[in-house]
Amino acid sequence: MYNLCDLHLHSKFSWDAKLSIDEIIKEAQINNFKYIGLTEHIDFWDDHTQNYLKFNYDGYTESIEKARELNLVNICKGVEVGEIHVYPDRFNKFLEGKQFDLILGSIHTIGDYTPVFDEYFEQYKNVKDAYKAYLEEEYELVKYGGFDVAAHITFMHRTGGKFFKDFNYNSFKNEIDDILKLMISKKIGLEINTSGMRHFANGPVPDFDIVEAYIKLGGDIITVGSDAHSQKDIFYGIKETFSVLEKLGVKEITFFKNRKPEKIKIKNEEKN
Ligand SMILES: [Zn+2]
Ligand SMILES: [Zn+2]
Repeated sequence: MYNLCDLHLHSKFSWDAKLSIDEIIKEAQINNFKYIGLTEHIDFWDDHTQNYLKFNYDGYTESIEKARELNLVNICKGVEVGEIHVYPDRFNKFLEGKQFDLILGSIHTIGDYTPVFDEYFEQYKNVKDAYKAYLEEEYELVKYGGFDVAAHITFMHRTGGKFFKDFNYNSFKNEIDDILKLMISKKIGLEINTSGMRHFANGPVPDFDIVEAYIKLGGDIITVGSDAHSQKDIFYGIKETFSVLEKLGVKEITFFKNRKPEKIKIKNEEKN
């Protein structure tokens, strides 16, 4: 029996998500997840619908504390922060007086474009350049640091998969290795984000060939997250991902408390 864990979930404290924390916990019980991570969006640009200044930290904290009193599931109180390296001062200001268990670092925009939309790819004559630009930005984010886990390091492939079906680790081995090595040296974890499985990537972002490369290079902080923003996506592909990890010989995945990694055995041996 797997110790199922989903460390990338958005509740309605994120501007683009619908589920209440209570609803997420109910789903965790139904689906036998003992560990969940709420990772609400924090973005910094000025004309954002809900940028960092409008995030309801007190409400979020209170809801999590109430949920924890029920003792039904281990809850990681996290945030998913976009483009920290572009807004270092705003990021530091945001963190003042706040406590989190986990900070995910993400690239959602490059300049005025977001790789969720075709327009991002249409800027480039060759789709490979669009992928390369994303990986270069990801490298800059990791180089700046300040977060615990790099979320969806090949996010561009989620939509880009319709233009670049054959993309894999070997397409940009050098660039990806540089990112992975830097993450390992800075003790930044790797997230397997299953949202790619329900989009054009047809697999997690990053896919397992990149996860294997991370492990071979010496990385051992792996998290798994569905990146659900609504009920239909909650825990999507997590069980499948655990079974692939087991086949790859991975024994533990990572949960976070107070921004420190805690290993969890992927399988509960006693029940087998
Ligand atoms: Zn994201
Ligand atoms: Zn997310």
